[in-house]
Amino acid sequence: MTGFDFDLFVIGAGSGGVRAARMSAGFGARVAIAEESRVGGTCVIRGCIPKKLLAYAAHYREDFEDAAAYGWRVPEPVFDWPALIANKDREIDRLNGVYKSLLKNSSVELIESRATLLDGHTVAVAGRRVTARVILLAVGAWPEVPPGAPPGITSNEAFHLPALPERIVVVGGGYVACEFASIFNGLGSKVIQLYRGEQILRGFDGDVRAHLAGELRKSGIDLRLGATIADASGIDADLIMYATGRRPRIEGLGLEAAGVRVNKQGAIAVDQFSRASADEVYAIGDCTDRVNLTPVAIREGAAFADTVFGGRPTPVDHETIPSAVFSNPPVAAVGLGEEAARARFPALDIYKSVFRPMKHTLTGRDRKTLMKLVVDRSSQRVLGAHMVGEDAPEIIQMAAIAVKLGATKPDFDRAMAIHPTAAEEFVLMRK
Ligand code: NDP
Repeated sequence: MTGFDFDLFVIGAGSGGVRAARMSAGFGARVAIAEESRVGGTCVIRGCIPKKLLAYAAHYREDFEDAAAYGWRVPEPVFDWPALIANKDREIDRLNGVYKSLLKNSSVELIESRATLLDGHTVAVAGRRVTARVILLAVGAWPEVPPGAPPGITSNEAFHLPALPERIVVVGGGYVACEFASIFNGLGSKVIQLYRGEQILRGFDGDVRAHLAGELRKSGIDLRLGATIADASGIDADLIMYATGRRPRIEGLGLEAAGVRVNKQGAIAVDQFSRASADEVYAIGDCTDRVNLTPVAIREGAAFADTVFGGRPTPVDHETIPSAVFSNPPVAAVGLGEEAARARFPALDIYKSVFRPMKHTLTGRDRKTLMKLVVDRSSQRVLGAHMVGEDAPEIIQMAAIAVKLGATKPDFDRAMAIHPTAAEEFVLMRK
């Protein structure tokens, strides 16, 4: 390709940008990628991965307590926050290195600097102008704190606190709020979670929302519903953490200069092939605010590469995407919740099971698992599978294959159970 410095210039080396860059290079494109922070993006540097490491750490509190019922005498455990943060940081450093070598081994040129658009084929980066036939925006999203809110942190800072707060207010009722409320609670902070609406986890199945709220309360979180941000300042706490949503990080990116349109949600508007403007500017991942999950950004990055450099136009299928909230207990779901299904199907069969996990028959811990299947009565197709309880994300990942394949309730029933497990309930539900 003549005339341009590169065939593809990617802005943002997160999950989506890196996948798109490497795959495009694999198709023979000359690719550069710019990153102003660390390679790996939200998921690796300040999201999914460090979050899950902290969630593992938080779970040990219960594990130590439960061990006694199984005959273990455990001396009073002592938690060391700086040790956890140092170990977590070491792992994030390692992953950052892995991502860099992946780029290098794919012959993608990494430019560790902020890049902005000058026009549809030109970026300003590291003090120079670079041209490319195609530009891909994969700049992600950033936590948003409502204007006028009392001072506080976001998840970005939560990963680097110098000490564990004794009392923390977590504002929000979405993924990040529920996950961090559980993390701080498990590690030993007193947690007050404030949510403005009637029930946390808007968009999830109603039974799932109520069940998680109950379990969070039983675990010691002081969950207050119908509580506004103003309520936060009246609470005696060391810290307020805002988990009030994220917004595409597109300020100052030069979108107008490249003729890239922003939609009503403040995200980069794209078509089904992630194309953002008449020039060859594309966008993927959280900055397009379609479904803001790492695997979706990766799929969008791969579809972009297939479409633009692989000669195989590939739209991304955004239907029936499973997701999980790594609270304690965790939540996972695929497909429609009961309320969403009722709006689309005339009659449903609902199967629901609430039970005490076997592990807690000995520990006596007051913990209940919820499993639910939402089934279209006329076709018997399983429209949604939902779970709140230990290992829910692992279990629902597998159920997602069946739901995506269009499995019916009789198909679920034909599968033999693995006994004794919690997951077997999904093939045994009769009510
Ligand atoms: P969410 O959109 O999930 O939740 C934001 C929460 O903040 C909602 O409860 C919302 O309330 C509340 N809120 C928003 N604005 C205000 C306000 N002005 N005052 C009070 N409350 C407010 O955002 P998150 O930050 O939790 O996560 C962002 C996205 O990142 C998620 O949607 C998800 O796509 C992704 N993510 C996925 C994870 C996973 O897969 N495990 C983990 C973390 C993030 P209301 O419901 O009333 O609007």
